[in-house]
Amino acid sequence: MRILLVEDEDRIASFVTKGLGAEGHSVERASTAREALSLARDEDYDLVLLDLILPDSNGREVLRRLRSTQQATPVLVLSALGDVENKVDLLDSGANDYLTKPFAFAELAARVRALARQDQPRSDVIEVSGITLDTRARTVIRGDKQMSLTSREFALLEYLMRHVGQVLGRQQLLQAVWGPNYHTSSNVVDVYIRYLRRKLDIPGAHSPIETVRGAGYRVRRD
Ligand code: CA
Repeated sequence: MRILLVEDEDRIASFVTKGLGAEGHSVERASTAREALSLARDEDYDLVLLDLILPDSNGREVLRRLRSTQQATPVLVLSALGDVENKVDLLDSGANDYLTKPFAFAELAARVRALARQDQPRSDVIEVSGITLDTRARTVIRGDKQMSLTSREFALLEYLMRHVGQVLGRQQLLQAVWGPNYHTSSNVVDVYIRYLRRKLDIPGAHSPIETVRGAGYRVRRD
């Protein structure tokens, strides 16, 4: 699994990274909330390990922001704050599990395995307009070319493909892909449509994503 470890303490980060690496996982580390959110926005992780007390913010805020952008990635909270109320509150806020520091590596490894088992949705392949998008393998193929998309590009394309033939406005796309709490100009949608076209378009062929003037975007039916 590809794991994002959000932890500011070097000693713990190194112990977790080594241990999970030895179990065959690939671990990337963020030491601040800001770095964590930026990595989570641009990359696809199978699991997030989240420390609660970070230098620039707290893990609860990171969790809230991860969830507001509709990220279904499992989150395992690692924290020294072990009281029951806190635990319930975090689980209610969208954490999948909670581990109190200090913990034994074996326990962390067992929880990671349990979350990996939960995170196996049915294979869901959408084929529209010559594009094959596999939501489980997280792959996008057009013709014989496999594209490498960021998680936001992937989510936008998936939403457009699930609504094939429908004209989707910028506000609707913003809500669906960036989440209701994401306050930004809807121009960001245009920017990401450009990124997608740059990756998906084939010279001389119609773009699978059509601009509907004054209304928004739609993915053409084949
Ligand atoms: Ca900490």
